[in-house]
Amino acid sequence: MAGIVLLVRIQRSVRPMPAKIHQFMCLQDNFGVLLHDETSGATAAIDAPEAAAVARALAETGWRLTDILVTHHHSDHTAGIPELKQRYGCRVVAPRGEAARIDGADDTVGEGESVTVGTLSARVIETPGHTAGHISYWFEAEKLAFVGDTLFSIGCGRVIEGTPEMMWNSLAKLRALPDDARFYCGHEYTASNIAFALTVDPDNAALKERAAEVAALRAEGKPTLPSTIGVEKAANPFLRADDPALAARLGLAGRPAAEVFARIRGAKDTFRG
Ligand code: ZN
Ligand code: FE
Repeated sequence: MAGIVLLVRIQRSVRPMPAKIHQFMCLQDNFGVLLHDETSGATAAIDAPEAAAVARALAETGWRLTDILVTHHHSDHTAGIPELKQRYGCRVVAPRGEAARIDGADDTVGEGESVTVGTLSARVIETPGHTAGHISYWFEAEKLAFVGDTLFSIGCGRVIEGTPEMMWNSLAKLRALPDDARFYCGHEYTASNIAFALTVDPDNAALKERAAEVAALRAEGKPTLPSTIGVEKAANPFLRADDPALAARLGLAGRPAAEVFARIRGAKDTFRG
């Protein structure tokens, strides 16, 4: 018995300290996120929508910025990079496919490559569609994903540079992460995403449950992210384009998932809730 207790104590003592996250608003509806490694003191900003907001978050937490992990080149994710780099001397990790469009990129990464933030380690998942070179960062040990403008809660990014099929494949990669994986994304769009989703999939109990939860969070002025992959798999119509019942509801029974996805995405693009 004493031996078992000792073993548990040893395992506790070598287990790395958990990652800490600080999420805050930037610009109109962009999320800023800081990821902090307690063990080394390293801190990464996931994208840099606005230098002043990131600097304020660093001052509040007392964390020192060591890295910026960029998901894609859009200015609402990169505008803060030059100023933050100059101020903190941090490293900027950018998607290889669009690094030329990202001012200050130091390291470029692609599918399957790893990125470390202190002792934390992420695997890069290429998730093109919103932009052609968009990437997501998957911290497997922490079950934590940073998905930029690919997956939103109860929504997904607009397909700007890629094709619907490309975006569907990217979402399917994120959907394959564990159900209890938490993810952070680029925008607080959840409430309007839900208004649209309820027009596509009105009888979905998981969606109705998420709608009630989000209404309560918004009433309290709280963010609706992070969400989990499990919740989104059940409630987000953009992750359910291969569900036969949903396809049938849209008059697309038996059609390929990418086509069902394209139909849902097109409807959202013109939706005015
Ligand atoms: Zn974007
Ligand atoms: Fe964005």
